Parts: sequence; structure tokens; C-alpha cells
Amino acid sequence: MSPFRPAVDAIEGYVPGEQPQETGWVKLNTNENPYPPSQQAIEAIVGKANDRLNVYPDPLARGFCQLVAEQMDLDPEWILPANGSDENLTILLRSFVEPGEQIACPYPSYILYETLAAIQGAGTQRLLLNADWSFDFAAAERTIANSKLVLVPNPNSPSGTKWSHDDLLRLVPPKGVFVLDEAYGAFADNPHDGSVLQSEAGRRIVMTRTVSKAFSLAGLRFGYAIAHPDLIRGMRKVKDSYNCDALAIAGATAALADTEWLTETTAKIRATRRRLSAALAELGFEVTPSQANFVWVTHPDRNHQSIYQSLKENRVLIRYMQYPEAPAFGAHGLDGLRITIGTDAEIDRFLDVLRIVLGRDSTSNV
Ligand SMILES: *Cc1c(COP(=O)(O)O)cnc(C)c1O
Repeated sequence: MSPFRPAVDAIEGYVPGEQPQETGWVKLNTNENPYPPSQQAIEAIVGKANDRLNVYPDPLARGFCQLVAEQMDLDPEWILPANGSDENLTILLRSFVEPGEQIACPYPSYILYETLAAIQGAGTQRLLLNADWSFDFAAAERTIANSKLVLVPNPNSPSGTKWSHDDLLRLVPPKGVFVLDEAYGAFADNPHDGSVLQSEAGRRIVMTRTVSKAFSLAGLRFGYAIAHPDLIRGMRKVKDSYNCDALAIAGATAALADTEWLTETTAKIRATRRRLSAALAELGFEVTPSQANFVWVTHPDRNHQSIYQSLKENRVLIRYMQYPEAPAFGAHGLDGLRITIGTDAEIDRFLDVLRIVLGRDSTSNV
């Protein structure tokens, strides 16, 4: 007999994108930022490495909270740092959802939410998106009536599309908490601000952000939640006492302080996003207009999985994704390719290999 809880035995476990540890790959599969992080962040990490690593870090990372509070014109009590946004998502599930209760999230979207709910013994009700990635509000409003947590990434993954604040506010569950996952917020043409928190429903909204994507610090593991202190106080009781390590706190604080680096880097990514989107459209792909650091494409008559595979054989890694239970996109749901915005040189290499792959397949398939 298995010693595990039935909820654990029942799940597959979340499968993150491939992370080859050797160099020589063009890696466009897990939405990392291709540019090196702020030099100030690196210096802060090195400085901290030489400064009393024998003692525990500040359990509340108050210096970091102070900085975000100043930048967002809030009190530091509104901020909860964590070991990556994924830890904050786990804290949210453990804080607000009992086994047997329901969460809701859009589909197709970030699949980790469903895995975290399953680990907690909770169920997921999917908010099935229309083919233009909009919400079916009539259906959604019925679904969220009994949701303890509604989780929505904005911009969404894999589409890169962004919903308006008005749309999101319609999804705040009447008896639960709304989680606005802003992992990709800084890449939008109009980057995110905290204004939804000031709305009438704001006391039941939690925003989550991370330094993994926009700040080029995925290897550091640091994210933070922003919400009314009534929510943050309860969530703090659930976290590990020292959930953020001293190096991560130092690096993340310096990274957020270097606003010039963020402005420059996100501008470069947006410019490459425009160029990549145009090139893919030229090659016959249907390109979903993106507000994130990746683009979602489908091709009207090519096999997506074999394009992915052929690229991989040439050491170019992108993501092939399948969402079989998305009826609005067709009888077999949706599948397609998600390509992270790399450096200009990486995108040129990707496009070169892609052109060869498409040309070769068209001659061999006739
Ligand atoms: C990458 C990602 C996260 C996780 O961020 P970490 O801080 O690296 O844990 C959360 N949500 C979405 C939608 C993401 O794409």
C-alpha cells in the first residue's frame, strides 16, 4: 500500500520545460530573459556573500518590502517576499483552500495552478477561453460563484495576451480571493501598476510578481506578493520562517532599485518581439499579438510537434504545447508553439534554422 496521501498519488507532478545544463543551445523554451541581470544586482549578491552568511536572513526581508512600498506608494505591510512566485502560489493555496474546495483558472493557461490545487486536495474548475483568448463571462460568473481562489496570469501564457482591469475585476470570486499573476507584467506596452488593488474589490485581490522573468534572475528564486495587509498577515503565518535566502534578498532589492536597467532591457525585448512576430507572420504562421516575452504561434497546415522536434535536433529549443480540452479552438483543442524572446542573435539563429526546417519538410512531405 502506498504511504502517500491519495492526493499525491493521484497527480502526475508538474513537468517544467527542459533545462539543458550544457551550453551550445539556443534556449527559447522557458521564458527566461536572455540578457545578463543588472550589474548592481550581481554586486549586491557578491557583497552579501562576503557579509555574515553564518546568520539567518531577515525573515520578513524588510529592506526589500520598504523599497517596493516606496516605488508603489504603499505601506511595507502590503508586501510578502517569497522563494519565487511559485512559493507564493503555494502559500496562497495553503492559506485559502481546504481539501475538497474548488479553485478556478483560465484554460489554456499556466498549468501549475491545477497541480498546486491537486496537491492541496482541491479541485480545479477551468474558465474555458474563447478562441480570441477572451473570457466567456456568462459561464465564468457561474463557475466562480463557489471558487475559493481564482488565479489569472496577466499577460497570459501561452498566448501572451493581456486582459483589461475591467475584465479581471469581473472574475473576483464573491466568496474567495482573486490572484493576479503578473510574472510577465513588465513586458507589456503599458507595464503593470497597482491600481486594481485600489478598487472596491481590492481587499480580496493578491498580485504576485517575480524577478525571474523581467529582471533576468530566474536562477536566484525570488518573488513577492502585494495585497491588503489583512491578507498578507494571514499568508505570513503559512510561509516558512526563512523562506528567502540572504543572497536572493540582496540581489532582488538591488535589481528592483535599478529601474534604468529594467526600462532598457524591456524595451529591447519589445523591439525583438515586434521583429520576431513580423518574421513569423511572413513565414505563414498565425501570430497571436503578444504583450509578454514570448509569442504563441500556430501554422495553418504544418505539424507543430515536428517543427519543434526538428528545431531541437538543431539545438534550438522552443516549447510545443497542447491543450486538448479547449473546445473553442477546435474539436481537438489547441496545440502550437511558444517561442521565448531571446537576444537578436538567438532569434536570427532560430529563424535561420526554422526556414531550413520548413523548406526541407515541404519538399519531403509532398
Ligand atoms: C514563470 C512563472 C511563474 C513563476 O515564477 P518564479 O518566480 O520563477 O517561481 C509564475 N507564474 C507564471 C505565469 C509564470 O510564467
